[in-house]
Amino acid sequence: MNVQRTVIPVARPVLEEAEADAARRVILSGWVTQGPEVAAFEREFAALVGAPHACAVSNCTTALHLALKAVGVEAGDEVVTVSHTFVATANAVRHCGAVPVFVDIAPGSFNIDPELIANAITARTRAILCVHQLGMPCDLQAIVDIGIRNGVPVIEDAACAIGSEILWGSSWEPIGKPHADIACFSFHPRKVITTGDGGMLITSNPHYDRNFRLWRQHSMSVSDTVRHGSATVLFEEYPEVGYNYRMTDVQAAIGRVQLGRLPQIVERRRRLADLYRVELAAVPGIAVPNEPQWARSNWQSFCIALPEWAVQQQVMQGLLDAGISTRRGVMNIHRELAYADPQSHRQGSKLERSEAAQDRAIMLPLYTQMSEADVVRIAGTLASLVAPA
Ligand SMILES: *Cc1c(COP(=O)(O)O)cnc(C)c1O
Repeated sequence: MNVQRTVIPVARPVLEEAEADAARRVILSGWVTQGPEVAAFEREFAALVGAPHACAVSNCTTALHLALKAVGVEAGDEVVTVSHTFVATANAVRHCGAVPVFVDIAPGSFNIDPELIANAITARTRAILCVHQLGMPCDLQAIVDIGIRNGVPVIEDAACAIGSEILWGSSWEPIGKPHADIACFSFHPRKVITTGDGGMLITSNPHYDRNFRLWRQHSMSVSDTVRHGSATVLFEEYPEVGYNYRMTDVQAAIGRVQLGRLPQIVERRRRLADLYRVELAAVPGIAVPNEPQWARSNWQSFCIALPEWAVQQQVMQGLLDAGISTRRGVMNIHRELAYADPQSHRQGSKLERSEAAQDRAIMLPLYTQMSEADVVRIAGTLASLVAPA
């Protein structure tokens, strides 16, 4: 076998000299964890999405945990969400001792079906946790309306959605602009911008923000940055059980460089996604992702549905043999062993569309450094692999 063949990866972060310089600057400054760089990253991120508060944490899973805790999710409560998402969405609910209630995705979409949410709400529902799956905005307007009507807070799992936009009234607004109660972002390398690992909590509620800042640092009443800068001796207190969910200053410095790259990254991803659409338009049976008129994706992933006659694993193998790496569609949490126990979750609707999406969808390579020629070759290879016999 040829061990040296080059394979087009599914994703690739943009990390260059500027990020390396930023990390070096922080390392040599002598202050490496949650400090001035984290504070600056938070200010810049808040400005970018148009929110009064942004609180950086270690990753999006810990962000989701703190968000759920902030709105009062406790042991035995229920949180309405999707099964068709990365496992961390529901794990964060279980980290609160609460029960995820899974509803199906909408027809022609990988996002939650708002019509199914109201039916899944009970007296025990403490939050709705919606996901902007693969960077495609979910129908936040409809979901926020349901939350308000039922007196249930709405949290956005925006792990993949930095740079995505939604039409709100008559203006395009970035995902993260506070319409729901809290939005949570990820900076894992598989997302559109990265800090290695990292997360961000966005809210317009100062009380929530105060709690995030307390809990992420062991619920320490006076932070180490404040003590360090104080001319008088200060003793801290620990009024409740906290967590160590800090982001480091090395990560934040990298994140600030990445924020500067975001507009070009999103523009490039949109151009490549448009080209995929053009190239795949004439391929029988392939469904390209549907972008509603009120949504603009950042195309964190470009996920297509295969024709019924195609076998997912065979198509993926055929692409890999041609030097093209792909991934299966988004997972379904209710199918995983960690959720086999019937106590672990509740099914709030049928999950047929979620299961079909996992079994028929594949994610194609999409990253800023790939060329137009790569897209054309991938689309052509795919077309030949799914051609009806
Ligand atoms: C990536 C992802 C997460 C987890 O983010 P981490 O930063 O890795 O903890 C959560 N939800 C969704 C939908 C994701 O895609």
